[in-house]
Amino acid sequence: MPHHAHLEFFLDPSRCIGCQSCVQACSECDTHKGDSMIHLEYIDRSQSVQTVPMVCMHCEQPTCAEVCPADAIKRTGDGIVQSARKPRCIACGNCVMACPFGVPELYIDRQIMMKCDMCYDRTSIGKKPMCATVCPSQALFFGTREQIDALRPQSMPTNRFTFGEQTITTRVNVMVPRHKAPPAPHLDVTSAMDERPQNRTVRLKVVRSEAAVEPRIDDPFGEVEI
Ligand code: SF4
Ligand code: SF4
Repeated sequence: MPHHAHLEFFLDPSRCIGCQSCVQACSECDTHKGDSMIHLEYIDRSQSVQTVPMVCMHCEQPTCAEVCPADAIKRTGDGIVQSARKPRCIACGNCVMACPFGVPELYIDRQIMMKCDMCYDRTSIGKKPMCATVCPSQALFFGTREQIDALRPQSMPTNRFTFGEQTITTRVNVMVPRHKAPPAPHLDVTSAMDERPQNRTVRLKVVRSEAAVEPRIDDPFGEVEI
């Protein structure tokens, strides 16, 4: 077992602030020549500005590889599903259609599918993937279980996802609220697609100092509700 096998990727969608740092950092990588392999999605653009970063989940049984007629997608011994091998990929798009997380993208100009390989050149030697090094809110976190447990006591990682009858286990973890997690934690992705973002109310109270002048009755900043 490599000495860094205890390092894992944790994705916490609720912490994403939509700053695009991960997208920019990913696009600077020379191996995919200016294209970002991480995608920033809106959960429900008409209802909320909440974004969620989407990386390859590195499935234990990758559907993308199973449907590839050219055997162009390989999974390494340490569980990382690689991007398509150039000499083999015939750009048929099967993997794009089959991936349950909507990750692979076809680059018609280059006749190849490319996707996130968790910065394998870095993570295979124990370094963080580029996105996790720049994410200011740690929505993308690369580290140990002990670190994430200490940092996020209210959340827990899950790597099991159900799509109807099918359950998929992944190398990448998604953080879910600890108190809401069922005994056998998994995310039902199909039913979650119908959920609407919840209204969130934040109250900011302005505390006045003793020396403050007599408060104005019509003070617009006395209590701000967002
Ligand atoms: S998330 Fe999609 S692209 Fe990534 S390994 Fe799983 S099936 Fe393949
Ligand atoms: S860097 Fe982090 S916070 Fe910024 S968009 Fe990406 S995931 Fe969200």
